[in-house]
Amino acid sequence: MVASRSARERKAAMQAGPLARVRIEVGADDQFVYKISCSECTAKGHRPWSAYRPGTDNGFMAAMDRWVFHLKEQHPASDAPCLEFLPEAEQRLHERRMQHEAARTRPD
Ligand SMILES: [Zn+2]
Repeated sequence: MVASRSARERKAAMQAGPLARVRIEVGADDQFVYKISCSECTAKGHRPWSAYRPGTDNGFMAAMDRWVFHLKEQHPASDAPCLEFLPEAEQRLHERRMQHEAARTRPD
């Protein structure tokens, strides 16, 4: 468990790039909790920017998607490896919005 967590943490940190601080914690029900925060946006004295998502692979993807959008908006010059996932992240965001829309207009 611990070994796989730190291996995931290293892999995620590598994908997220040099600006990111990636932490994976183990939550109450033995779920991984992914936390990605921005080292640059932390330094400005505001609340640190961070994405915090529980879950397994879904949680990881949701946190990484938020991080990709943060990089694109705040640090467009970044060349973090995860930016290659931007089209997929946008697609997932679009799908979540469509699902939300469908749930709102057609409740069951
Ligand atoms: Zn930032």
